[in-house]
Amino acid sequence: METKKVYIETLGCQMNKSDAERMYGMLEYCGYTQTENPKEADMLIINTCSIRQLSEDKAYSQIGVWGKMKKSKPSLKIVFAGCVAQQGGANVLKRAPYVDLVLGTQRLYELPNLVKRIEAGERIVSIDEKPYDESEIKINRVKGVNAWIPIMEGCNNFCTYCIVPYTRGRERSRKPELIIAEAKKALADGFKEITLLGQNVDSYGKDLPEGQNLSWLLRQLNALEGKFRIRFVTNYPTDITEEVIETVIELDKVCEYFHIPMQSGDDFVLKKMNRRYDYATYKKICDNIRFKIPDVTITSDFIAGFPGETEEQFENTLKAMTELELDYSNTAAYSPREKTVAAKWVDLYISEDVKTERLARLNEHNRACCLKSNQKYVGREMEVLIENSEVRKNGDKVITGRTRNNKIVHIPCDRDLTGKFVNVEITRARTWYLNGELV
Ligand code: SF4
Repeated sequence: METKKVYIETLGCQMNKSDAERMYGMLEYCGYTQTENPKEADMLIINTCSIRQLSEDKAYSQIGVWGKMKKSKPSLKIVFAGCVAQQGGANVLKRAPYVDLVLGTQRLYELPNLVKRIEAGERIVSIDEKPYDESEIKINRVKGVNAWIPIMEGCNNFCTYCIVPYTRGRERSRKPELIIAEAKKALADGFKEITLLGQNVDSYGKDLPEGQNLSWLLRQLNALEGKFRIRFVTNYPTDITEEVIETVIELDKVCEYFHIPMQSGDDFVLKKMNRRYDYATYKKICDNIRFKIPDVTITSDFIAGFPGETEEQFENTLKAMTELELDYSNTAAYSPREKTVAAKWVDLYISEDVKTERLARLNEHNRACCLKSNQKYVGREMEVLIENSEVRKNGDKVITGRTRNNKIVHIPCDRDLTGKFVNVEITRARTWYLNGELV
């Protein structure tokens, strides 16, 4: 078969990165190999994100550049995929007439069929909200250390700022047999870590037969042979069950790490966000996990400048971040997204200057929390799974990996130990990572 080249540009979250991996894997069966150079590609795919206006603008600006490339190479195929594609639909073709395929989030597995059709000259919009059956699709995972495996798609929560329920649809669990088969294949291919992905992993199994929930799935995966790690993201605070916490304690391969977005530390703002908890409830959940799981890492997400947020309410978020000793947080200024409830509260919008200033203060607190969290581990011996090795500009050879509790560790080493588990003594805490020495 003639080999063609495909380049995929991925914006946004881990779910998009996982989708990109799947696209590469499916396209291999369509005769395409991956390239890192868009100029030599026969097909260009952008995997878009609509969580913020900035990402959406970036997607359109990128395909604008590709559209110009197509003028001198008319056979070039351009695919606009992901959340912005799901929302934009046929309008994308109007706005960017050089696009060959608009691929919605729930049609990912239709890609091999659609590729054949665009190669034959069709221009297609596929954004149906009926998920495309994946059972017959073959995927060749791109080699690496950590395999991202989606277990859930969509979300039913409708937080007032969030576009995900509109772009990814309602919650759906992937069939456990597909997840387990994918995990087995990844392990056989040499992957050493499996991260189960979902907007709300705690909802796993609600649409499956009784008893098939997240804890059950973790048990099935933990029973697979070999030395490897299992992680899962993201948890909705009040959906984390005691059963899941007990499962993390009990299962040797499941890592001590929870990502639990809090979004605001103020009860009034949380209500306006349609989050189903208050600060005291969130704190209780964190305290319980920390009490039961020593050395657990808890990370979070926060939004600065939600519509109507007062200075006092924002300060409650700063206090919460510090009081809970969160190990790390993703932070962002509020960005209104069309269709969402909060986007309609134009009169309550916070000025860009104030949002920027609040975000800077939030980041300052985040840095302090992160450094404090890292300092706990200086002098400790920890198991690290090496993810890459590099030679720095100054000639230093460094390998980098993660501890079970998701701390990044840099280690001087002149051997490439990628994919190996090593024991490391932590020698120094930096803001975002640790330094260590091989033991
Ligand atoms: S739970 Fe997460 S994905 Fe779902 S609507 Fe809220 S912020 Fe969005």
